Amino acid sequence: MNDDLWLDRPLVLPWLKGRWTDLLELKSQNRLPHALLINGPEGIGKACFALALANFMLCRDPQGTSACGQCRSCELTGSGGHPDLYQLCPDEPGKPIKIDQIRELTKFIYSTAQQGGYRVVIIDPADSMNINAANALLKMLEEPGENTLLMLLTHRLGQMLPTIKSRCQRVDLPPAEVEMATKWVATQLEVESDEAAQLLVIAHNSPLQALAYKQDDLLGLRAKVLKGLADILKNRSSSIEVAQQLFKEDLELILGWMYSWMVDIARLSENEADPEILRHSDARNMLLALARKVSSRKLYEYADLVQEERKGLMFRRNPNKQLLMEKLLSEWYSLPRG
Ligand SMILES: [Zn+2]
Repeated sequence: MNDDLWLDRPLVLPWLKGRWTDLLELKSQNRLPHALLINGPEGIGKACFALALANFMLCRDPQGTSACGQCRSCELTGSGGHPDLYQLCPDEPGKPIKIDQIRELTKFIYSTAQQGGYRVVIIDPADSMNINAANALLKMLEEPGENTLLMLLTHRLGQMLPTIKSRCQRVDLPPAEVEMATKWVATQLEVESDEAAQLLVIAHNSPLQALAYKQDDLLGLRAKVLKGLADILKNRSSSIEVAQQLFKEDLELILGWMYSWMVDIARLSENEADPEILRHSDARNMLLALARKVSSRKLYEYADLVQEERKGLMFRRNPNKQLLMEKLLSEWYSLPRG
């Protein structure tokens, strides 16, 4: 991994530079709104972007379009302890932001003495506020007080209350442009651009997710899953043996891959389309062979089954993962066998 990584310092990622310049332009004209709704796909760097803007607003000696990185204020932001920066997120990932948390924020906004500059709030993800929390935030959005900037981050705009949306200025961050993202991922990970491109495909074009995939060796896991599936079809291993190898891995992720492979080949066998449409080049040969042998109806049925089990994993507390994999893989074995 490149030592110069973004993680400990808020950097604006290359594909977000255009929006960055726009906001700084507004700031220089004293027209920066007091509430921004920062919207964009998952894993493109929204949190870094917001933190970089907070850093810039709080910096005592900004240099052109970036914070100085040296002043006391930059130091405090970097260590996560700036008294005028308030970052609000759920107590646990995936849980809602509750009204008590917004009450704490209210105290910060209305009763804390400022250190002489801006006060900045980042709410991430803002769509996780429950309805009471969102309503409690409304008043603050109307009258946040002087020199205050609130940034609400979301990748699920549809789940934001209209009343919240209408009180913020929307900043739409674009998805990462493929060529730029490939180059960036390759540089960060110090890998060839082919590998970077493949990581990006399985990460649905999210550069940050691509980095996480590499760190967790998810390409390795993916190769293991593909080999297991091929071994079952070719009778080299039984579905029970492969289930045994896989059930302790991240099944939500594996089932997500299986689902997208099935949808890919169902599309292919339905349209007799150009195999080039297959996005998952690593699984290509097996998927093409299945597309020739299995009807699209059966493939969709299997995709539905996978998806249903995946939902079960997300919502049920404690499914028997080994049995679940055995079931899915024995159906997998039967797929081309009628
Ligand atoms: Zn500074």
